[in-house]
Amino acid sequence: TKWVFTFGNGSAEGAADMKSLLGGKGANLAEMSSLGLPVPPGFTITTEVCTYYYANGQSYPDELAAQVKAALDTVGVATGRGFGDKDKPLLVSVRSGARVSMPGMMDTVLNLGLNDETVKAIGAAAHDMRFAYDSYRRFIQMYADVVLGVDHSEFEEVLEDHKERNELSLDTEITAEDWVGIIEKFKSLVERDLGRPFPQDPDEQLWGAIGAVFGSWETPRAKTYRRLHDIPGDWGTAVNVQAMVFGNMGETSATGVAFTRNPSTGERALYGEFLVNAQGEDVVAGIRTPQDITEKAKKEAGSDKPSLEALMPEAFAEFRDICDKLETHYRDMQDLEFTIEQGKLWMLQTRSGKRTAKAALKIAVDMVAEGLLSEEEAIMRVEPGALDQLLHPTIDPAAKRDIVATGLPASPGAASGAIVFTSEEAEQARAAGKRVILVRVETSPEDIHGMHAAEGILTSRGGMTSHAAVVARGMGKPCVAGAGSLRIDYRKGTVNAAGRLLNKGDIITIDGATGQILAGEVAMLQPTLSGDFGILMGWADAKRRMKVRTNAETPADTRVAREFGAEGIGLCRTEHMFFDSDRIIAVREMILSDEETGRRAALAKLLPMQRNDFKDLFEIMKGLPVTIRLLDPPLHEFLPKTDEELGEVAAAIGVDAEKLRQRALDLEEFNPMLGHRGCRLLVSYPEIAEMQARAIFEAAVEAGKKTGSPVHLEIMVPLVGLKGELDLVKDRIVAMADAVKGETGVEINYQVGTMVELPRAALQAGEIAKSAEFFSFGTNDLTQTTFGISRDDAASFLGTYQAKGLIEQDPFVSLDQDGVGELVRIGSERGRQTRPGIKLGICGEHGGDPSSIHFCESIGLDYVSCSPFRVPIARLAAAQATL
Ligand code: ADP
Ligand code: MG
Ligand code: MG
Repeated sequence: TKWVFTFGNGSAEGAADMKSLLGGKGANLAEMSSLGLPVPPGFTITTEVCTYYYANGQSYPDELAAQVKAALDTVGVATGRGFGDKDKPLLVSVRSGARVSMPGMMDTVLNLGLNDETVKAIGAAAHDMRFAYDSYRRFIQMYADVVLGVDHSEFEEVLEDHKERNELSLDTEITAEDWVGIIEKFKSLVERDLGRPFPQDPDEQLWGAIGAVFGSWETPRAKTYRRLHDIPGDWGTAVNVQAMVFGNMGETSATGVAFTRNPSTGERALYGEFLVNAQGEDVVAGIRTPQDITEKAKKEAGSDKPSLEALMPEAFAEFRDICDKLETHYRDMQDLEFTIEQGKLWMLQTRSGKRTAKAALKIAVDMVAEGLLSEEEAIMRVEPGALDQLLHPTIDPAAKRDIVATGLPASPGAASGAIVFTSEEAEQARAAGKRVILVRVETSPEDIHGMHAAEGILTSRGGMTSHAAVVARGMGKPCVAGAGSLRIDYRKGTVNAAGRLLNKGDIITIDGATGQILAGEVAMLQPTLSGDFGILMGWADAKRRMKVRTNAETPADTRVAREFGAEGIGLCRTEHMFFDSDRIIAVREMILSDEETGRRAALAKLLPMQRNDFKDLFEIMKGLPVTIRLLDPPLHEFLPKTDEELGEVAAAIGVDAEKLRQRALDLEEFNPMLGHRGCRLLVSYPEIAEMQARAIFEAAVEAGKKTGSPVHLEIMVPLVGLKGELDLVKDRIVAMADAVKGETGVEINYQVGTMVELPRAALQAGEIAKSAEFFSFGTNDLTQTTFGISRDDAASFLGTYQAKGLIEQDPFVSLDQDGVGELVRIGSERGRQTRPGIKLGICGEHGGDPSSIHFCESIGLDYVSCSPFRVPIARLAAAQATL
């Protein structure tokens, strides 16, 4: 078996499409090499070795050692060096790389191959002993930390100690001779901790690092990450071993990261950051604030540090060409790592770049115009869930801005909240219902939970590619990074902004579009959805088969949904209209009357209010379908909660409060969600259905006249299990339609259908469809009733179920396709058998969930219906489902 694939010198044994075998990093290094780009030569040990390793008691295949040796020789020939050679030593990096990038895996070890001998040769060749010893001590620190498990703070202490004794403040002031002494201390520290010396043998170093990469595949951190992201455990990781190039060889050397387009806005402009005389992750670590790569970005940022373009024009020009070449080759925006060693450019990584939703849209649309992508491909390039980010507010341009400081606009959107300094504080405040901005010098992976809890993130250090910036963009949260004028004092709980003192708890606003930090709360604007959004959605709309409707009952929500492109209302929950203060008393009167006459009197008061509600909706939806569901929840939800409320109702009906209290007690149920609700209420109290039907029909007549387009009306009966239930209610509705027609002379087109939200309804769909003219799958209740799990009580154990791998996803968020989905499929098939062409939709939470939408497409539903803010997501997901 071939376990090792080499790359470098304009060729490679692997290629970009071999990610499962070589991991993402290895496959793309191979591809770049074959494209003739300057990639330091190296080789990839395949993911199959990782699989073998765990299947065989953590041992390697027999042929591996020889294959690694041969590959090292190839690299040696390509570089004119030899691994472990005392005159011309080859140094390498050891890098992990799974199919998808995965935090939790072993950190990269740089400068491997250095020892007491080779360090001298490296220094002599570079004419710079300081550089050589600096690299050696970095290697000992890194290797001891990630491979040998020695706590890195011990090394820091030695270093600090040395600086203090010699009154030095910067690492760069430490001389070569001093480093030699420090290295000795580092080595004895390792020996003391491990009981054996720091490995001097390069082979031992290499196999130690390789073992550490494979070992890190099964660490708790890596496992957790895989579980959260649905990454199978048997994928395994690859190991990349690559000749070192040095960005820390003085002022003509540098290291950096770049995006071929702006990952925040999508603008077609090379975008990135670098540091002179630096190595590895210095740029993203936020230790020094990096410099811009292009002149353009430098000017826009108003930076006084020179750009790479100005500083190293030749290397820059080559880099720019390579960026263009890679983008055209991969037909996607790339995220790159590079190093310049004494003026010579080297490429160290390329991959598809993470981007904001705004950037994803712009890049997809631009690339179609540039001829790089087809419209279908562009549709597939945007992740539907990410559109959510675009729906975030921005600061009203007319609002007054009290600017406290300015940082980098690291992630778009604006947010206001109280200042907190730790992730724990952020979480606690969030749990208490407060909105906070997480303010930190810089963030690290331990801050993820705090970033989740915060409305936005502000850092005083680090650039556009710092941890805070990258993670915030991924989360769709506003972020201002690298606001260097802020002095954050965690201990005192203060931020000093050029003399202006802000305290923990003070409200600030951050503007991710400009990088401004503003005092107090600032007026925001809701986003407008035109431009690239409109174009891509237009393509999506042309491709999708299913319609997208919304769940809405207020005029405000309905209008928003229309703007977002809803093609009708799939679910209007009439009971939501019952809670408004002007009518709740009448609703309570209706419920608490123990006789039909009393109920009818109260319903008569509600009729005009409901009529107006419906009229508004019909007018906004102007001829688009509107599905109105009759009263659904158990009556006790409307009952007065306090004595005062009870008194009000008693006075309104003119009965004794005590009698009323008794009636309220009678209405109590053990299990209201499975109790007297839905069509069961309408069967008991048909006058409720009559009032609602009258309000609906009268409103339809009026709205039809007013708008000139007849209302497209669908009346939906909830919680039907028996065909007979539907028939009883339907009779009342039909009678009311006839009555209103008689009174107004207007013939109204309407359909009567049902929610399918009980297993019995799904199974009996063939029978029920004899009466029902449409079905809407109410998958919230259907999930509850299929699993026998109450949604409101599920939180206490569903988390455990997920952790133990019993279920992959919360079935209330993403449709359980095997179980609940099976019922939806059965319901659809049986319904269609009875009534070919019966209209089928879904109106649970799942109607706005992309993977559930794919399922709906696969069984041929006619539409999905979801909350207004998810309508754009559903439109895009429905289009993707057809491609
Ligand atoms: P990650 O997946 O965390 O980005 P990488 O393996 O890409 O880890 O490397 C971490 C850092 O080390 C990056 O900045 C990378 O460019 C740098 N690096 C890796 N290999 C080499 C090498 N052979 N020479 C110089 N720098 C390297
Ligand atoms: Mg890393
Ligand atoms: Mg990398």
